[in-house]
Amino acid sequence: MIGREWKKRTHHCGSLRIEDVGRDVVLNGWVQKRRDHGGVIFIDLRDVSGLVQVVFNPEISAAAHEVAGELRGEYVISCRGTVGARPADSVNPRLATGEVEVRVEEADVISASLTPPFEIQEGSDVDEALRFRYRFLDMRRRDQLEPLILRSRVAVTVRNFLDSRGFLEIETPMLTKSTPEGARDFVVPSRLQPGKFYALPQSPQLFKQLLMIAGIDRYYQIARCFRDEDMRADRQLEFTQIDLEMSFIEPEDLIAIMDAMFVDLFRRVMSVELSDPFPQISWQEAMEAYGTDRPDPRWGMEIDDFSSIFSATDFKLFRSILEEKGRVRGFKVDGLIAPARRELDSLVSEAQRLGAGGLVWMVREGDSLRSPVAKFLSQGETDALIEKAAMVEGEVFLLAAGPGDLNPVLAGLRQYCIKNFAPQPAEAWALLWVIDFPLFDWDENEKRYKSNHHPFTSPSRRTLELLDDDPLQVTSDSYDMVLNGVEIGGGSIRIHDPELQDRIFKILGLGEQEVEEKFGFLIEAFRYGAPPHGGIAYGLDRLAMLMAGKDSIRDVIAFPKTQSGLDLMTAAPDIISQAQLKELRIRST
Ligand code: ASP
Repeated sequence: MIGREWKKRTHHCGSLRIEDVGRDVVLNGWVQKRRDHGGVIFIDLRDVSGLVQVVFNPEISAAAHEVAGELRGEYVISCRGTVGARPADSVNPRLATGEVEVRVEEADVISASLTPPFEIQEGSDVDEALRFRYRFLDMRRRDQLEPLILRSRVAVTVRNFLDSRGFLEIETPMLTKSTPEGARDFVVPSRLQPGKFYALPQSPQLFKQLLMIAGIDRYYQIARCFRDEDMRADRQLEFTQIDLEMSFIEPEDLIAIMDAMFVDLFRRVMSVELSDPFPQISWQEAMEAYGTDRPDPRWGMEIDDFSSIFSATDFKLFRSILEEKGRVRGFKVDGLIAPARRELDSLVSEAQRLGAGGLVWMVREGDSLRSPVAKFLSQGETDALIEKAAMVEGEVFLLAAGPGDLNPVLAGLRQYCIKNFAPQPAEAWALLWVIDFPLFDWDENEKRYKSNHHPFTSPSRRTLELLDDDPLQVTSDSYDMVLNGVEIGGGSIRIHDPELQDRIFKILGLGEQEVEEKFGFLIEAFRYGAPPHGGIAYGLDRLAMLMAGKDSIRDVIAFPKTQSGLDLMTAAPDIISQAQLKELRIRST
């Protein structure tokens, strides 16, 4: 094929419109479909911009028609011809180019193609393993390409925005030392330093803080991060962060600039007008009202505490739970009126699946409640429930009770109700901030405090005095951004005082030597004049996934890995040769 003549395109396939009729055009692209209609051959020709119908009529060019006779799916061709209006009865309203066709006068085959292992057709259902093995074919399908186009636009828009606000794009090393995000590291053996290993960054965290100490003032990077964790639909071993850091700021400064960034992003990429500032909710409030730190407020169904209604109850189950300092919490289900028994049973089994001992449902019927526990409740309790939950006739109300943590059950049930019963939300997009996270969590297994975010997160000033006596009550200057119930970013103001950083390391049970080995370089830098600083990182994959309306981040990654970390196309990871192992001084088992 080398040396074959071909003509360079003058237009993209998907760009031709009725206004182009009469134009002489050259197109380059792939044969999507070929139909032979009694002598006239029709081809759908595809390139990155879309499809157009090209027509090979032997009466226009016998030579071109002959070329068309050889064409098969996925052949790459070049063709020259005139744009014509399609006859009215063959206009295709589903296609942007559906009013026109190109009547070919000259055609050349540029590359032949084997028969593809699956049909290169938008929307066709292909096994994921096969798609990943032939991802270069998979991406030829419009529905696979669209999310990548969107992702690119997200990245470019964010870059332009941050650039316009004085952020410098700076790259940080890939071959580095362990960073503090707390996941397992990927390691890379060093040949030049035998027996030693680099860690791939879990994030640029330490470097971006060092950039602030370096006086860079505002940094950003669209950064690749690596975490050796078990994968889920929204996790990959390597993923991309929109990572940034700013000096001389308080949380509200960062939040304001990020609000503006998201308004700009949604306007430019989605043509959606979001109104900022986005709501802020404290971690404590989010856990109370939604049972999760990733609330989706597009539906009401806020969880409330009904314990006080039962303070003197005769209902034994609730009484004993309240005596054990437990609570009774619940919410009213949106969109479920006068439910069938089967629907109520499905709620109970969902609650059990979520680990609840039991679930109490109640349906308002006049002044009474239909419920398996109705007979244990006094009229006063019934009235109080109806009033507090503002139940109208036929509405359903769910209660969970227990001394243990009710949040996973309530949040899970709320999710279940949203999926199965709730009406479409009025707003398609809900962005909010969750702020004031606890600084520490208690790890029951290891019997020690752990950072809720990472050890460089600053405690909030107003709770600082509790640091030594009641660390779990200390909140931090941290913030997560949540989009439609999915955490898309998180960050914090950092500690810039080396003494405070030392106290935090002590509470976390990190010994002096360990701190020195892991973070010595950062702590040393803090002693040379560190500005107050803070930042955030967004998961670009997850953000693009939501904006593209996809369920998996694999759909917005050009070359994703499978659930078990395999790249089915290149067959990575792979074994390496004895010689390579020897050079790295690694013994094979
Ligand atoms: N490095 C943090 C993370 O990856 C984000 C941040 O604190 O800016 O979660």
